[in-house]
Amino acid sequence: MSQDVYANVNRAAKIGERVEVEVEIYESADTVTNGQNTVTEQQETNTNKTTQSNVTGQDCHHTTGTRSCRLAAVFLGLLCVILLIVIILLWFKFTTDRDQLQTSNSNLAAERDQLQKERDGLLMNLSELFLLSGWKYFNSSFYYITTEKKSWSESRKDCRDKGTDLLIINSREEQEFFNKELGRTEAWIGLTDEVTEGDWKWVDGSKPTVKFWAEGEPNNYQNEDCAITSFQRTISDILTWADYPCHQSVSWICEKRVTGL
Ligand code: CA
Ligand code: CA
Repeated sequence: MSQDVYANVNRAAKIGERVEVEVEIYESADTVTNGQNTVTEQQETNTNKTTQSNVTGQDCHHTTGTRSCRLAAVFLGLLCVILLIVIILLWFKFTTDRDQLQTSNSNLAAERDQLQKERDGLLMNLSELFLLSGWKYFNSSFYYITTEKKSWSESRKDCRDKGTDLLIINSREEQEFFNKELGRTEAWIGLTDEVTEGDWKWVDGSKPTVKFWAEGEPNNYQNEDCAITSFQRTISDILTWADYPCHQSVSWICEKRVTGL
């Protein structure tokens, strides 16, 4: 009997322990379940906060972009207006300057025409004066052929006193002109080799570009350093230059070059 009692007591004790263990298990399970729910709720809360935060951020950015776009549009508009004003001012200045230049150009052209008329008038008067004084005109030059005779240096001095110089022959036409004008009269021309024997130069310092020496001339016979044209001992119609002693008395030709006639 006592053994049954002890057995029942032990069984009851074991049942009690199992109940306690089950209770603890259930409590733990509830705790875990509650914890999971808490975590889920926390995650949802965080998700909601994040979503709200993102929405709020997007609105902020969107508002800032619109404001920037408006400022940029205003700035570009002002820039366009300023550029337009600058272009208008530059165009106005350009047209004003152009009109002034055209007016100035017209005035200068009128002054030039007036000066040309005055020059032509003066040249005509000068031409008449030269011709009345016995000068001859040919190919932009007036020429004076003397009847008296002097040395080469005295002849040149006479020309220079007239504001001219001894004749310089630059072309075959000019040579032919004087052969006809002079006939049988020999005359000094402005050609000399006084400085260096054999180095013939015109009175303006230039060397002859065309030469019309007679056959056998220049021969420096008896120290001849000054040139004449229309040498009477020549057998050619065009080659009539010769060197003579500079002190010899010969007629001479002065030349005055002019332009515009
Ligand atoms: Ca000579
Ligand atoms: Ca000679």
